[in-house]
Formats: sequence, structure tokens, C-alpha cells
Amino acid sequence: MSFSTQRKLNERWPGFEIADDIDTVHTEDTGIVHAGRSVTAMQYQARTNGATLKENHRVDKLTPDENGVVIETSKRKFHAKKVILAADAWVNKLLKSLGSEIPDLLKKLTKFMDTIIPAHGPELRTVTCQYAITPDRQFIIGPLKKHPDIILAQGNGHAFKFAPAIGRVAAELAIDGKTTEDISLFTVPDPNSSNPRPAPPGGSKL
Ligand SMILES: Cc1cc2nc3c(=O)[nH]c(=O)nc-3n(C[C@H](O)[C@H](O)[C@H](O)COP(=O)(O)OP(=O)(O)OC[C@H]3O[C@@H](n4cnc5c(N)ncnc54)[C@H](O)[C@@H]3O)c2cc1C
Repeated sequence: MSFSTQRKLNERWPGFEIADDIDTVHTEDTGIVHAGRSVTAMQYQARTNGATLKENHRVDKLTPDENGVVIETSKRKFHAKKVILAADAWVNKLLKSLGSEIPDLLKKLTKFMDTIIPAHGPELRTVTCQYAITPDRQFIIGPLKKHPDIILAQGNGHAFKFAPAIGRVAAELAIDGKTTEDISLFTVPDPNSSNPRPAPPGGSKL
């Protein structure tokens, strides 16, 4: 891995115009995770370990009660002691009725890309896709303050490679009520609080 200056970066990739306060990193030995195969492998592992996957069950509503959470789906109702909510870009639809919401920063990211590649040409093709960007670009992993039986596991546009770790931490929170990992940066933000979450080391530029 090497850090690049603006000059070195432009020698190799002339199309970029990176502001001085933005660090660029180049990794020679990077890797690619095949998303489809990884999800299949994770589903296989889950089933092997006793999980039942309910496909095509749209969750319409989560209602906490004294014994856990009622889950209303397009097919039928379920009851669970704990729910891990990992609906990413769709999470606000389910959070709304629970009196909570995660602000979306997709527009800010789009604007940022326009500034770092100002002379980009016309779009070659567009693909509609959705992912969630949290206000401070940190993951959100933890129980909802008002409804602790609902645990939020929310990535931030780059969570795929962390999926096994995020899943393990969320499962530990659901089963043991605590995790051995330090998730203090990832607490659920309180939209009504003036105190932001702890800042990540090095800050975030997006
Ligand atoms: C174009 C693109 C490129 C990316 N590149 C990278 C990358 O290079 N590296 C990386 O680490 N990450 C990358 N990501 C981000 C990564 O895909 C996400 O962070 C990750 O998939 C989040 O996982 P998730 O399980 O939380 O959410 P998702 O993968 O979005 O899964 C959420 C699931 O919840 C389901 N759902 C939503 N609402 C409901 C409901 N009401 N009832 C039932 N089901 C529901 C959805 O159908 C979906 O299957 C990229 C994302 C995109 C779109």
C-alpha cells in the first residue's frame, strides 16, 4: 500500500483533480469479493448452522411488545425475542413507525464525485442501485434506545466486505446482550440529541 501525492496521482491517472486535504491510497495487492457467490456461501453457512431463511417475506411492520417484537410480513406474523434490522437503504420505512430515522446523505456523495472528477465525460451507462449512507459515514450497530429488542445493523455504502463481522457482532448483541468488539463508534445516533457520535480517527471527508 502506498500514499500518493497529487502530482504522482496525476502522472498515473491524469483525469483526477484531488484537493490537497484529501489523501489517496494505492494498494497493489487488492482483492475482489464476488458478491453473488459470497451471499450464496453465507446463506449456505446460515442454513447449515440451523437458520431458517424466509424468502419473499416483505416485512411491513415491527411492533415491540413486552416479550420481544411482533413482525408483520406480507405472508404472516412472527414473534421474536430479538430482531436484527439490516434493511440498509430501506431501513427508514421500518424505523418510521418506531419513532426513529437515519438521515440519508446520498445527494452529498453524488456532489462530491462531481468535484473530484470535474472533467468526466458523459455517462456510459447507469444502473439503479440503492445503498445507505449514514450522516457521519460510520456503521450503525446497536439496539434502538427506545426499543432495545430491535438491533440495528446498518452499513454505510462499503459494508459488503465487513458483512461477516457485522453479522457476528449483531448476533452477539442479540444472543449475549454484549459484544467483545469495540463498537463505541457505531452507536445508534439520536436524531433529537445535539451530541454527535464520537468522531472517527482521521475524520471523514464525505
Ligand atoms: C454499486 C454498489 C457498489 C458497492 N461496492 C461496494 C464495495 O466495493 N465494497 C463494499 O464493501 N461494499 C460495497 N457496496 C455496499 C454494500 O453492497 C452494502 O454496504 C451492503 O450490501 C449492505 O449489506 P446489507 O445486508 O446491510 O444491505 P443490503 O445488501 O442492501 O440488503 C438489504 C436487504 O434487505 C431487504 N429488505 C429491505 N427492506 C425489506 C423489508 N421491508 N422486508 C424484507 N426485506 C427487506 C432488501 O431486499 C435487501 O435484500 C456497494 C453497493 C453498491 C450499490
